[in-house]
This record gives sequence, C-alpha cells and structure tokens, in this order.
Amino acid sequence: MSRRTAEPYKIKSVEPIRMTTRAERERAIAEAGYNTFLLKSEDVYIDLLTDSGTSAMSDAQWAAMMRGDEAYAGARSFYRFEQAVREIYGFQWMVPTHQGRGAEHLISRILIRPGHVIPGNMYFTTTRVHQELQGGTFVDVIIDEAHDSLSDHPFKGNVDLVKLQSVIDRHGAENIPYVNVAVTVNLAGGQPVSMQNLRETRSLLQHHGIRMWCDATRAVENAFFIKERESGYAGKPVRAILKEMMSYFDGCTMSAKKDCLVNIGGFLAGNDDAILQAAREQVVIFEGMPTYGGLSGRDMEAVAQGIYEMVDDDYIAHRINQVRYLGRQLVDFGVPIVLPIGGHAVFLDARQFLPHLDQDEYPAQALAAALYVDSGVRAMERGNVSSGRDQATGKNRRPKLELVRLTIPRRVYTDRHMDVVADSVRHLYEHREEIPGLEMVYEPPTLRFFTARFAPVKTACQVRT
Ligand SMILES: *Cc1c(COP(=O)(O)O)cnc(C)c1O
Repeated sequence: MSRRTAEPYKIKSVEPIRMTTRAERERAIAEAGYNTFLLKSEDVYIDLLTDSGTSAMSDAQWAAMMRGDEAYAGARSFYRFEQAVREIYGFQWMVPTHQGRGAEHLISRILIRPGHVIPGNMYFTTTRVHQELQGGTFVDVIIDEAHDSLSDHPFKGNVDLVKLQSVIDRHGAENIPYVNVAVTVNLAGGQPVSMQNLRETRSLLQHHGIRMWCDATRAVENAFFIKERESGYAGKPVRAILKEMMSYFDGCTMSAKKDCLVNIGGFLAGNDDAILQAAREQVVIFEGMPTYGGLSGRDMEAVAQGIYEMVDDDYIAHRINQVRYLGRQLVDFGVPIVLPIGGHAVFLDARQFLPHLDQDEYPAQALAAALYVDSGVRAMERGNVSSGRDQATGKNRRPKLELVRLTIPRRVYTDRHMDVVADSVRHLYEHREEIPGLEMVYEPPTLRFFTARFAPVKTACQVRT
C-alpha cells in the first residue's frame, strides 16, 4: 500500500470562506454578465482564477516584513533581496520592479529596436505587448507538441531548434537582440523545458552571439519536473537544478507573484554590467530608485524570504502533487483535460466537454460560469474569448485550445478543497448536455476577456415553450 502524505505546513492564521446558496450564485453570475472576472471575491467559495499574487505567506515571511527597511535609498532589505537572488538564481545583479511586466518593460526598452525579432517558446500576453511597444516582433519557436492538448510529451515547453535556426537564417543574428525562453510555459498549460533543451539552445545561440534571456516566473516548478523526468537529476535537490538551469541564461525577468510566494513584486536580474547600467537608468524613470523599484522595504523582505522557501524540496513536491491530485481525479472520472498535468493548473478541454456547443457559443466561458453556479468555484476562460478577434477579418479567432483553467494558489487550499472542485466538475460532466452556450452582449475593444458580458443562449426547446 502506498502511504498518503499531507501538506508540509500547519495552519496558523485562517481566512473564513462562505459557501453560498445556488440561488445566490445564479444571481451573482447573472450580475457579473457570466464572466468570472466580474464576480466579487466575497461571493466565491474556492478561488482558482489565478496563482498570481494569491499565495499564502509563511510565518517567517510575515516576521521578515517587520524588519523592512523603508529608507528611500540603499535599504538593508534591498541587499537581502539581492543576496537571495545571487544565492538561489546565481545572477550577479538584480533590479527590483513592481511585478513581472515591470521587468519585461525594462529589458524590452534596453535591448529591442524597431525591426528586431524576438523568438520565444510561445507568447505570453504582457511579454509580447512590451516587445511590440518597442517595435519588435515575437516569433514562436516552441515545439509543435505544445499546441496539441493530447500529446503527452514530457517537455512540451521545449524550444524547437530547427525553427530557431531558421528564424536566425531568415532575419540574421544582428536583428535578434535575445531569445526569450519561459520556464514553465504558462499558455501551453504550465509545461516544462528540459535541461538538455536549455543546454542545446544555449550552445546554438552562443554560436551566433545571441543572448538568451529567461522568463523565470515558474522556474522552480520547471526544476521539479526536470528532477522527476530527466535522467541524471533524480537525486538532485531542486535548488541545485534551478541554479544549473539559470547558468545557461544571461539574465531573467521575474514575476515574484508566482514562484516567490508573495502577493506583489518582481525583478530583472543578470550578469552583464552594461545591461545593469541601462536597467538602473530606466528603472528610476518607470518604477523607482534602483534599490527599491516600486516595492516597499517590507515587500522586498517578503520576496527575499520567499526565494529561500520556494526551493524547499518538500514544499515544491507538494505544490506540484496537489495540482496533479486534482487532475488525476478528473482523469479517473473521464473528464477531458490537457495532459500531461502542468505545474500550476489543471485545464479542462471545453470543446470535448461540451461538444453540443459551437465555439462561437463560447464553451469554455459557459463551462466556467456553470462551475461557479454549481459549487462557487471560480475558474478562468482560456479560449475563444481570451483569443479575441482576428485583426484582418474581425472574426473570432476560434483557437485550437478551448480551455477552462483551474489555477491552484500556493499553500492556500488543502486537498479537501480539491475534492470539492473535482466533485463539482464531475457533476457537471455527468449533466453536460444541460449546460447552455453563451452570447456576448458587451464587448470591449481590447483584452475583452477581462470585462466582456454574456447572456445564456436560448436552446431550441426553450424558444418553443
Ligand atoms: C504572470 C506572468 C508574467 C507577468 O508578470 P506580472 O507579475 O503579472 O506582471 C510574465 N510571464 C509569465 C509566464 C507570467 O505567468
């Protein structure tokens, strides 16, 4: 018999949550225009909207906040933050930013010029916007398996070296300021990159004299997958694997709101002194002094402490296994999800779940709304609504992946909460043909998924009665 394990922490402080009635939830989702982004947090029972800035801090992080040095310049808290980045990531310098996109803004301004091309392993929303704002163009060089919800490739986040070489041949190394490699790949479903792929990508880029930059947002989760799946790493601590991963990069952008177990924060880190100099010049314009970059002293203390806690092997094993614990229950119930189960979320395949709906009836949006009504669980649509309209035709993009993301915050919920989520999804799956599609009744001009409003489509039989 395999023995069960439990959360590697005990609970010292609690935040009550309230199960509402079905009638209350029906009213709340109608008022929110069937968009889970527009629900009030107090009407949500289990909040799986995102893992960004929603982690629970430890007693040691709260204690560290009390020693926050709020000096305008040269705060002790900055030096502790810098030391943590040096020790755990291995980069020589670090400039704080208010969150990940602040760091993306800085590196894009420093390195990208109009006409530049920035290859990456699948786009990320804020990353691509900052590249485009500087006149650059993102080019996707992820392996094909990443776009296939049924492929069980162990490292679906890998860079396709043939695609990368052909981008270099086509545009010339001089027009590629850096290649941006994300570990793990958020939009592919939290899928990891292998160490071998990092090594090979590094060697190809070194040959052409191109920098390799990391989106390190969920690098610790990636390190755990390497430990589990790649030969030669089984016995190594996650801390050592992370350090080796980072050794292949010139630097990184970081959203501390993910791996680093804090509610706000980010940084730009690296080894190149010329880039550091430019980052210090830019950060004072957009974020703040180079020793606080938009963060208070106490925020920097919390990130520094979080950086040491995130590489604890028991913590990260539990983190990934809790995501999988939810995913495996759904697989056992026959519910269609994206495989392999990723590092931060379980993705329901809404096309297969609701085959009676056309994609323009927004199956993922409809499923997220139905999940909320069934159990007060809040998820996020990642499909036809999030993709927006094609610029040329004005039509919905109808992407291949039509998904509902159940994102697990770190250290916040117990496995029992996961059981409640699994039971609710199972119930919906057993009654899936009763879930109606949606029509969009308000559409904002950009990033419509945040604020669009919907109404249920009347089925043929409802129309007749
Ligand atoms: C969240 C995220 C970012 C942006 O970070 P913010 O802290 O939200 O600004 C960048 N890249 C990836 C992969 C992310 O998940």
